[in-house]
Amino acid sequence: MDRELLEKVKRREVSFHEIDKTLDVNASIELRRTAVSELTGTQLNHISNYSMDIENVTKRNIENMIGAIQVPLGVAGPLRINGEYAKGEYYIPLATTEGALVASADRGSSVITASGGANVRIFKDEMTRAPVFRTKDIIGAKNLADWVNENFGRLKQKAQETTRFGELLSINAFTAGRNVFLRFSYDTKDAMGMNMVTIATDAAVDLILSENDAELVALSGNMCSDKKPAAINAIMGRGKSVSSDVFLDKEIISEKLKTTPEKMAEVNYRKSLLGSALAGSIGFNAHAANIAAAMFIACGQDAAHVVEASNAITTMELTDDGLYCSVTLPSLNVGTVGGGTRIATQQECLNMLGVAGAGEPPGTNSRKLAEIIAAAVLAGEISLVGALAARHLARAHAALGR
Ligand code: NAP
Repeated sequence: MDRELLEKVKRREVSFHEIDKTLDVNASIELRRTAVSELTGTQLNHISNYSMDIENVTKRNIENMIGAIQVPLGVAGPLRINGEYAKGEYYIPLATTEGALVASADRGSSVITASGGANVRIFKDEMTRAPVFRTKDIIGAKNLADWVNENFGRLKQKAQETTRFGELLSINAFTAGRNVFLRFSYDTKDAMGMNMVTIATDAAVDLILSENDAELVALSGNMCSDKKPAAINAIMGRGKSVSSDVFLDKEIISEKLKTTPEKMAEVNYRKSLLGSALAGSIGFNAHAANIAAAMFIACGQDAAHVVEASNAITTMELTDDGLYCSVTLPSLNVGTVGGGTRIATQQECLNMLGVAGAGEPPGTNSRKLAEIIAAAVLAGEISLVGALAARHLARAHAALGR
């Protein structure tokens, strides 16, 4: 260990990122960790244990690395899925520290599988980026919106010059006075696509600025809307818009969930629908974010996109012999290439689902992952609503979560 450099870092004469210029990757990580350990008077024995490929991770996924966090990984399933891309039984990886969550997903999976499996369909697949422009006045705003409409083909060509896989599908203009927001929507194939669409939109913006009397204020103007709770994502969709459903017999509900279709339908109506409406919620569900978060962490997804995954609506309706259950996730942002999907532990989880890397044809792996997540969310919804209907929730958490 270079003690002289360490002391300089501790005195802030050398910043954390400057260490990378003088030491190799492993030595940089160790020196930074030691500096933090001594500055904070903390033992950091556990975060120094990991097996990932540090060269790649420090190039693509993290700056100022000092170690890794371990999150326990559980498995639920088998979960039978009848999708267009996911067909068969799947073992669902869930990385979480929330006791009872995996047990809940496992129970829901068993109910769905015993009922013949969850149907899943993707209705839309579009990742968005929405720059904001300032024009002179509302006449300038109208002129810009019209120009974008008339020149869509040229903008598409310019954007697609930056990517082999991305396709610009549409541009929707929204205005507020002289502010113009252009919501670019792309098919990003197997990539979740945020970097891809940001780079492609930046290129299209150059063309817009060269032929219009408008100023770019920001490449992202929040009409995208990335990682914020926003009705536009729930209404227009972002990433994959996906639905999953299943019919449950009353015998299966009684045997596996110890309750009745009537009680579950009432819990879902008064909790997921009425309660959410009263709370002013955008998501109308029991706990979609729980399953999404645990699968996102396990499978190398951008965890902040759980905000958008939580925009889900769960329905439960009585049928002649049981209960119809569905969940619709209008904004599920997932990919199987890029981002955190390259890290070895996350890649193993993607491999468990048969979706690691690029699909053949492109886009089929990310769609399969989206279908599996949607079915797993449905399993979580059925289990939690069932537990509330049977008044088992507090008992389950007392037994498993503390
Ligand atoms: P990325 O790692 O930046 O890019 C993935 C690239 O993989 C694509 O651009 C594509 O290259 C290539 N590729 C190879 N096979 C592909 C296939 N079958 N389908 C699609 N692409 C394929 O990943 P990204 O998904 O665009 O962005 C994800 C990252 O963005 C995450 O790390 C996330 O945290 C971050 N993020 C960025 C922003 C932002 O504003 N920039 C916002 C939120 C999150 P070509 O383009 O050359 O075809």
